[in-house]
Amino acid sequence: PAPANGNPWDELPLRDELRGQSPYGAPQLDVPVRLNTNENPYPLPEALVERIAERVREAARDLNRYPDRDAVQLRTELARYLTRTTGHEVGAAHVWAANGSNEVLQQLLQTFGGPGRTAIGFEPSYSMHALIARGTGTGWISGPRNEDFTIDVAAARKSIAEHRPGVVFITSPNNPTGTAVDAAAVVELYDAAQAAGPSMVVVDEAYGEFSHSPSLLPLIEGRRHLVLSRTMSKAFGAAGLRLGYFAADPAVVDAVQLVRLPYHLSSVTQATALAALEHTDTLLGYVDRLKSERDRLVAGLRELGYDVTDSDANFVQFGRFADSHTAWRRILDRGVLVRDNGVPGWLRVSAGTPQENDAFLDAVRELKKEHD
Ligand code: PMP
Repeated sequence: PAPANGNPWDELPLRDELRGQSPYGAPQLDVPVRLNTNENPYPLPEALVERIAERVREAARDLNRYPDRDAVQLRTELARYLTRTTGHEVGAAHVWAANGSNEVLQQLLQTFGGPGRTAIGFEPSYSMHALIARGTGTGWISGPRNEDFTIDVAAARKSIAEHRPGVVFITSPNNPTGTAVDAAAVVELYDAAQAAGPSMVVVDEAYGEFSHSPSLLPLIEGRRHLVLSRTMSKAFGAAGLRLGYFAADPAVVDAVQLVRLPYHLSSVTQATALAALEHTDTLLGYVDRLKSERDRLVAGLRELGYDVTDSDANFVQFGRFADSHTAWRRILDRGVLVRDNGVPGWLRVSAGTPQENDAFLDAVRELKKEHD
């Protein structure tokens, strides 16, 4: 039983920095329309499902052996994908993969953060940056944003100079607000971080494929402390696969070898990810559909009179609500699950299929009527 006013684990001899904290927990509710975790609504195409089965069958024959510890084939294919889609050439030596970009970020914090060091992020942003920092014993600094949720670059540079963090997180497109960060701002923050540290700058581009602007990947050229993190959870429609990766100077890839668990990426995961990469073109076709659905959501919400933050992602932040939690509940009552990220006045909806988005727009149209 939970102690009064606390969590059941509070009685344990917990690390001090975990005391009183809550785990990451987007509700997993069984409702008709789930638009709360920025998943891709399209199931993998049948031809890809078949290819995964084939590749996994092959991998199964060798499951008595440990997987390729360095995942060389997979990193080669990921590098090829990045080169092809961004026009910036990288090879396997620049790329590292792990179980979701969450593990990528954890490995980076284990390598460049840790006890006695801090990491900074500009909030609101992806809440796991702060949670993974805490889990790796890294102090967390919440950096500023402007009223319109863009990064306040001057204030951010000041915070970086003052705190000299080991790691600087820049989420582009940002989650939950949706807007991409321009390259000039990233360079300014990078320069500030080098003057103060030097420290590592991690650009979390989990939603990069959905952006109106090009990837920030070319910025790694000549910037040895810049890391670009990506995932197959969103654009590849493979959140269940758990495959994230980063691109950076090869020295960064070498450095994370110091903390990665041996054989962290199972043969089954590697085989599945390789199969998905064979079907990149089909999957990027779904990304195009989602981008136009995202733009339709932005336009539809604005037409209904909602405030909407510009979105380069597969989700849209909308408001404003006197009480966003009550609005969240009202939308849920109509069978549509969106996300309350705790940003006062705002909610976030992921772009789903056209039918799901229609159901969402109907729900918020009714909500608006109630208040008019
Ligand atoms: N970064 C950002 C900005 C995200 O929103 C997410 C997922 N919600 C992740 C990283 C983690 O994704 P995954 O571990 O599935 O790759």
